Amino acid sequence: MPTHWDPESDEIHAAVASYLLRSAGKNILVDTGGGNGQSGPYFPPVSHLDTVYLKDLAREGVNPADVDIVICTHLHLDHVGWNTVLENREWIPTFPNATYFFTNEDFEFWNPLNEKKPKGALINQNVYEDSIAPVHNAGQANLWSGSLTIDESLTLVALPVTLLEVPYSTSRRARIARYSLVTSCTIRCRSWKPHWNSCFCENPEQSRSTRREILSRAADTNTLVFASHFAGGQAAEIERDGDKFRIKGWI
Ligand SMILES: [Zn+2]
Repeated sequence: MPTHWDPESDEIHAAVASYLLRSAGKNILVDTGGGNGQSGPYFPPVSHLDTVYLKDLAREGVNPADVDIVICTHLHLDHVGWNTVLENREWIPTFPNATYFFTNEDFEFWNPLNEKKPKGALINQNVYEDSIAPVHNAGQANLWSGSLTIDESLTLVALPVTLLEVPYSTSRRARIARYSLVTSCTIRCRSWKPHWNSCFCENPEQSRSTRREILSRAADTNTLVFASHFAGGQAAEIERDGDKFRIKGWI
């Protein structure tokens, strides 16, 4: 079982995940984590990074030109960082042949030209300019709403966070839920508390209902949940516990 909380330091351990899928002959990235050289002054964990993300991908036989699809579950800096790389002082798409999927709502929400004042505006400083707009300007963004079929195995659902449904056997489906599940730290507190929000939840009520919907679907349909920030790179099996939920097991 992954360790999500260190009682000695009283620190929560969370991953920043990027998933590589292969489906219908295509290479698909789900979230691109924190990118290199980006400046997020209000979120140091993914600011000014120098990681070997692209080398890790290459080790799996995938070079940037081989990526066909990038799905961004949402547009926070820790999910879109490798969307772009800096070349000649300009942010350009890292994956030149990929279509990047952003929900229309997220794309508009984070556009600095609109009137919205997101709670995460400081945390997400520079992100639209560095990681989103260059992709759109290059004509590589697919802005979608509602649901979208990628191929016969993969479906995107906007809840409004992006849920990717991936059948991986006849009896189970995997879901990649965005950070609305945050980490599983609360699991260690005897029972799951799906009504707990993080400080990054822009709409508290919607966050709660979305989280409950993801967990309900997972529990009722024997579905694995791959979340963006579960430590240990593992997926969770969810079961109901009265009107709450808990982790049945880790895969
Ligand atoms: Zn996140």
